[in-house]
Amino acid sequence: MEIRVEKVGGFKFRLPSSQWPRMRTDGIVYANDSLMSSIKNDNSLLQVMNVATLPGIVGPSIGMPDIHWGYGFPIGGVAAFDYDEGIVSPGGVGYDINCGVTLIRSSLTLNDLRPKLKEVVDEIFRLVPSGVGSKGRYSIGHQDLNNILAEGIDWAVNRGYATEDDREKTEEYGRMEGADPAHVSSEARNRGIPQIGTLGAGNHFLEIQVVERVMDPGTARAFGIEEGKVTVMIHTGSRGLGHQVATDYIKRLNESSDSVRDVPDRQLTSAFLKSRIAQEYMGAMRAAANFGFVNRQLIVNSVREAFRRVMHLPAEDLGLDLVYSLAHNIAKVEEHDVDGKKVKVLVHRKGATRAFPAGRKENNRKYRETGHPVLIPGDMGRASYVLVGLPGSLSESFGSSCHGAGRMLSRSKATSTYPASRVISELEQKGIYLRAASKKVVSEEAPYSYKDVDEVVASVAGAGISRIVSRHIPVGVVKG
Ligand code: 5GP
Ligand code: MN
Ligand code: MN
Repeated sequence: MEIRVEKVGGFKFRLPSSQWPRMRTDGIVYANDSLMSSIKNDNSLLQVMNVATLPGIVGPSIGMPDIHWGYGFPIGGVAAFDYDEGIVSPGGVGYDINCGVTLIRSSLTLNDLRPKLKEVVDEIFRLVPSGVGSKGRYSIGHQDLNNILAEGIDWAVNRGYATEDDREKTEEYGRMEGADPAHVSSEARNRGIPQIGTLGAGNHFLEIQVVERVMDPGTARAFGIEEGKVTVMIHTGSRGLGHQVATDYIKRLNESSDSVRDVPDRQLTSAFLKSRIAQEYMGAMRAAANFGFVNRQLIVNSVREAFRRVMHLPAEDLGLDLVYSLAHNIAKVEEHDVDGKKVKVLVHRKGATRAFPAGRKENNRKYRETGHPVLIPGDMGRASYVLVGLPGSLSESFGSSCHGAGRMLSRSKATSTYPASRVISELEQKGIYLRAASKKVVSEEAPYSYKDVDEVVASVAGAGISRIVSRHIPVGVVKG
């Protein structure tokens, strides 16, 4: 089937609903021309159209410039459903519930760090277990896990693993309301307990960066970001626990008579929000999200320890404060203006970052005046960004932006194109030190297997969704 795509703005494309009777609404994709031509090469546009057929969808089915093929819903997709008449779909959140990004600032310059860079990366590699099925150094029991699932970061603050300031700078203050541990299976719990505080494998990473350029000095100042200073970016989620929650509910939905009939792709399995199974999934998803917030926070704690040990500096001199910790795989109940009316919707952001500008009540107290930071990893060889939401995000995309550069080559294509030795030497030439859990991951994660993050952020900026605050370049990378 030839998909009809119309260019309707400088960085905006429409997939009109008139081309397929099952579509209840248009698809909208934000991208520039060259990104759009590569997007057309995978099945993600068809997935945008599939999502547009789901009951209760409000506004368009949306794709960001980092969009690529995913389970049912595309990665880089945003879809909002009416709270009373719409659905929730685990495939619209993703298997890695609360996969997300945490950014730490520091008072160090690259000159301060350079002589000790390798040592710091090696120490982080030691303290933050990575790789498939990696096990952690934080030992928690079932009671701890229950508290983590119910309370999120509050547990970490009580245990001394998080400061008040960390909590103030975590999305939802690190605690999702409505989390219900009772709906998290014992299988999910058993996978989560040994893995807490670990990075995992593949696209998950921990990166030491330098702020190469600040484009929006006022906002950067509010975020604690300074040109020339070292930052640390962490990308991981809820590990096996979240994956098991997704697996459990997808299985239950496939077997349940409450699931939505007649979806164009079995992977879109969904339930009406009002149904019992949907509410149970929401409770479990929020509990898994709490686990994700704590997982990243424990890694933050380990990063601080690694720097202290290697740099022999007190915490005050290191200044390793959180900029922000956010979720980019999650569904949230929010109120949005649609056609001049306020509507209560469930916004699915799968590989999409909330990007609320100043003025939304959900913004953390620290970021009321600016809007919260929008953290965009690129790849381990080129760059990553910090953005901030613009009012346009509310009118265009339910207050959402992209979440990364987005994969362009499949893992197998990347492996055959980029041998690990070549990736390592190219990174070395750029002064980037890499520690990876396997050769396999080095090839699969080769920088050019991702889209060009410069183009991706220029597209969301051009579309008026968010503004660029700063560009960060990698100097040390830990890959799971
Ligand atoms: P995802 O959440 O879809 O797994 O990945 C988010 C984004 O992280 C990817 O689209 C990619 O742009 C980015 N990314 C993956 N690996 C790395 C890395 O090692 N370093 C940086 N800076 N970004 C990465
Ligand atoms: Mn992610
Ligand atoms: Mn993930």
